[in-house]
Amino acid sequence: MAFPDLEGIRGLPLFHGVESDGLASLLAGASILDVEAGDTLLAPGKSNDCLYVVLKGHLALHGADEEGPSRTLGPGDLAGAASLIANAPVFSRVVAERTTQVLEIPRNTLWRMAYQEPVFTCNLLQYLARRLAGANSAMSTARALQERYRQHAQTDPLTALYNRRWMDERLTFEIARSELRGKPLCLMMIDIDHFKSYNDTHGHLAGDLVLQTVAGTIQKALRENDLAVRYGGEEMVVILPGADETETEGVAERLHQALAEVDYPAMDDGPLPRVTVSIGIAIRESGDDTANLIRRADSALYRAKAAGRNCTSM
Ligand code: GH3
Ligand code: MG
Ligand code: MG
Repeated sequence: MAFPDLEGIRGLPLFHGVESDGLASLLAGASILDVEAGDTLLAPGKSNDCLYVVLKGHLALHGADEEGPSRTLGPGDLAGAASLIANAPVFSRVVAERTTQVLEIPRNTLWRMAYQEPVFTCNLLQYLARRLAGANSAMSTARALQERYRQHAQTDPLTALYNRRWMDERLTFEIARSELRGKPLCLMMIDIDHFKSYNDTHGHLAGDLVLQTVAGTIQKALRENDLAVRYGGEEMVVILPGADETETEGVAERLHQALAEVDYPAMDDGPLPRVTVSIGIAIRESGDDTANLIRRADSALYRAKAAGRNCTSM
């Protein structure tokens, strides 16, 4: 066919460097197609025998889930390249957003062009490599975002400890693992002493800062495999996989000590007064589930409170 705007076509990146004289014969077998607004040019899962080069207007490329954001293909962009070259089903839906003019290059014509004109082949390679780099970068951005959401969903925003939802799942897993391997497992329930009156005296903001300080101090007092959770309010749980009674008591002792020594944040009147915590320890027994274990740690905590606070009970 005769091409009305050969110079326009030659201006597209895919044809850069192709001699004017040779372009018309190179394109023999290709044709110009007008895609009406709303028409689907390529449908997912279908086979495809043509490469399309956008000449005027634009096409929308929708990902496999059809719900994510679409990408716009404008003049010079290609559609159908991957399915045609890989001889694979079409992956993305390509739809005309308004009447769009494309150059349709059938498979045989494309291969002839590739053999006949190395400059064209290089341009095609370059375009595909750029698309691949873009897809890779979008993929790693999506992965990083996914990781951020995952962290978000399992973390308490104030203390940066794990949240209760995360604990419910993880504790079940740790109990099962401990049972299976015949290894001990301990749980500490930690509660800040007289925190209500602390808030009443120093204000809720000071209370928040102290909660953060306590959470950070707990994290530092733990061993690598221990898991600290904000259980609710001013109560925190620590799961100690593999730890027996004596080791857990050692961790609790370190924590009382650290809280008595750590620097507290300052507010208008200088550094905030320290707080103490009471700790209840429960050791996993055969047949325990999460509810049993937590209930026993809670009872032990109650005993620590009754014993005068700032201490640990079993
Ligand atoms: P006890 O020694 O018996 O544990 O006394 P307590 O005052 O700590 O216990 P109580 O359960 O009566 O009060 C807990 C307080 O913890 C009340 C609540 O305002 C405070 N609290 C819970 N969550 C937060 C929080 O996110 N920020 C602040 N600032 N305070 C909190
Ligand atoms: Mg308390
Ligand atoms: Mg409490």
